[in-house]
Amino acid sequence: MSCTRRDFNRKMIGLLAGCAASGSLVSTLGCAAGKKLSPASAPGRVLADLHVHSLINEWNRTTPMGVRYPGLLKLVEKFANKTGMNWENCHGAGVDLICVAHFNVFDEWLSMPTDPNPEAPAHTLQMMNQLEEILNDEAEPYARLARNSFELDDMLNIPKADPRFRTAVVHTVEGGHALGGSLEPVAILAERGVAIITVTHFFNKGIASAANAFPFFPDAGARPANQGLSEFGRKVIREMEKHGIIVDLIHAEPTAVGEILAYAKEPVIATHSSARTLGDHPYSLYDEHIKQISNDGGIIGVIIDPYLLSNYADLHQAEKEATLADVVRTVRYMVKLCGTHKSIAIGSDFGGFITGPTDMLRLEQVSHLRKLLIREFGSVELVEDILANNAINFLKDHWGRGGER
Ligand SMILES: [Zn+2]
Repeated sequence: MSCTRRDFNRKMIGLLAGCAASGSLVSTLGCAAGKKLSPASAPGRVLADLHVHSLINEWNRTTPMGVRYPGLLKLVEKFANKTGMNWENCHGAGVDLICVAHFNVFDEWLSMPTDPNPEAPAHTLQMMNQLEEILNDEAEPYARLARNSFELDDMLNIPKADPRFRTAVVHTVEGGHALGGSLEPVAILAERGVAIITVTHFFNKGIASAANAFPFFPDAGARPANQGLSEFGRKVIREMEKHGIIVDLIHAEPTAVGEILAYAKEPVIATHSSARTLGDHPYSLYDEHIKQISNDGGIIGVIIDPYLLSNYADLHQAEKEATLADVVRTVRYMVKLCGTHKSIAIGSDFGGFITGPTDMLRLEQVSHLRKLLIREFGSVELVEDILANNAINFLKDHWGRGGER
């Protein structure tokens, strides 16, 4: 069964209103509660997450739809975004680094036919301002922005028992539509501290063709248009490289992935990925591309969304049954495929309306993943590389071209 985007939005509203009336989903929310954590008791490196939507709820509340239907958004946040994150708890768990992905659904989904939306760069800067306000205010005791790789290094050198310890936060942008069809914003975003841009997202916005990742759109089962990397997309990549912003190729369809890999001069990243061999989704990467990213010096962040990591019958089954076992299996597979664990990292995609595993619905529960990975690999050092050091080292080496800027 398929529906148009408009039908989908309508159905979501109906579903959420129904849930609110019956209270039928309230019982599933118990996962957030837990004892207070302290970073002082965290073991070594805990997590450097390449892709988190920490801001999506707050941002959506400021958008025209959020202002018009605040009650509806509250419902969406509560019931549909169970992996939403909390700064205090992440800090308490000793999370080292969170790369915050800025994504504006209105500029991407609803901007047509004004496409790309020339207002998108301004909206992206507003999202960055909003995050910085949160970090300077209620999240100040827990997290702090790193504007470049030097600030990141300084923050990561503070021991977790030191009261000055804060979870480091780095700006990233999801979807080249945020550039509004112009190269000029690249330099501005670099100056503001953006480390990574995911060049394409759900739809091809003139940079590169996108994988159709979501089953609820009518063309989900169809072969995506494989226009690859456009002429403008090539210019975007060169401009990003010039300003030391890392190219993220996740969400691109295979033709575009191949062309981005061939065209990029700097190592690229796939921030929140899955393997096509283990989970047959258009969004997942083919083995040859995983290997090439690694061979070229790039890294692959494994998404913590079992639905994409495996072959569940549907989202509902994944939500009910899936566990971190799918994450561990994918990490094992990718390590073997690349011939090194140094190319593999984590990009949870938490807070981005994903289907989290039943045994880790919150980032602060990352100790569950750590335990399973240590059981799988038998080496704390190797597991800390995968959970944190590989991502940290990649950012230090390639963000701002390793400090050249
Ligand atoms: Zn994404």
